[in-house]
Amino acid sequence: MHDFRYEAFKIDLLRNNRMIIEPLFLPAQHTSGCQFYIYRGDLECSIAPGNKRHKLKYHLQQASKKNKSILATFGGPHSNHISAFVAQCKHQGLTPLIVVRGETWAELTPTLRQAVALGALLFPCERVDYKLGLGAKIKKTIDEYYDHQVYWIPEGGAGAEGVLGCLDWANEIYSLSHDKSFHLCIASGTGTTAAGFAASHFKGMTVFSALKGASTLTQDVERQCQDAGLTINATIEGFDESLHGGFGKVSAEQLSFLKDLKKLNPNIPLDPLYTSKMVYKVNQLCRWGKWQHDQTLFIHTGGLQGWQGLPSDKQVY
Ligand SMILES: *Cc1c(COP(=O)(O)O)cnc(C)c1O
Repeated sequence: MHDFRYEAFKIDLLRNNRMIIEPLFLPAQHTSGCQFYIYRGDLECSIAPGNKRHKLKYHLQQASKKNKSILATFGGPHSNHISAFVAQCKHQGLTPLIVVRGETWAELTPTLRQAVALGALLFPCERVDYKLGLGAKIKKTIDEYYDHQVYWIPEGGAGAEGVLGCLDWANEIYSLSHDKSFHLCIASGTGTTAAGFAASHFKGMTVFSALKGASTLTQDVERQCQDAGLTINATIEGFDESLHGGFGKVSAEQLSFLKDLKKLNPNIPLDPLYTSKMVYKVNQLCRWGKWQHDQTLFIHTGGLQGWQGLPSDKQVY
């Protein structure tokens, strides 16, 4: 599937001489002599920026091959996946259904309000059932209601389709890179995106989980590559999220770090749950003299819409 918006945007970037890979200056950088760059995945596509669009690519192709015009997926009330899923469905004239984690709410989150405004239908789902994913009772009910015409996408766009979409993305970034020996940094949740990058032409990467206690992170990434029929070319190192209180939490240290980072890089906003925690950790390792890579490339996986879910006293950008 050819995404004309993306092509147009890239041409636009070149025309304006704005690089999609640009330097990122870290507060602790001067102590180390290391250089950092960031790939601006957040700028790629105005309707669905970041990694989720790439994770959806082959899912959407499958749906189209099977002639399905109603698509369904799962997500939390602030989910970046939902945001990208609905935007892509709208763009392609498909009907998006969303099973939303958690019981009914008095008020919708900004992410869900936008989803509804773009034509999405919401199905609130209790956590116990939600956890069953594609085996959830609510899926059966929806399938029956829509006469089994629904194409389902797992939460976050995971699965082999997701990995393959990210592999294409990774190789595209590789071809854009002026330094082919860049050490990559990638933020992860399910590890699907990292799996795509691990199978790409890049040679080494560090993965930063947004989840606490992610002790099987590198194995999870390897398993997802295998399940997608891919072999791993890169060396992988991993860290979990033990500094800010776990998934979905934003710490005071993180916000103060982001304010410093913004002074050094006024035009590079990071998201609250993934990319900012990754850069925070690398800065810390750098300060301790423990970051050993001369040339590092961060992948900006988007997620800026996530700031909408935070109160005004926590806004940075
Ligand atoms: C979903 C998401 C990730 C994690 O992607 P996985 O494939 O689940 O590991 C990273 N960054 C952002 C901004 C995301 O929205």
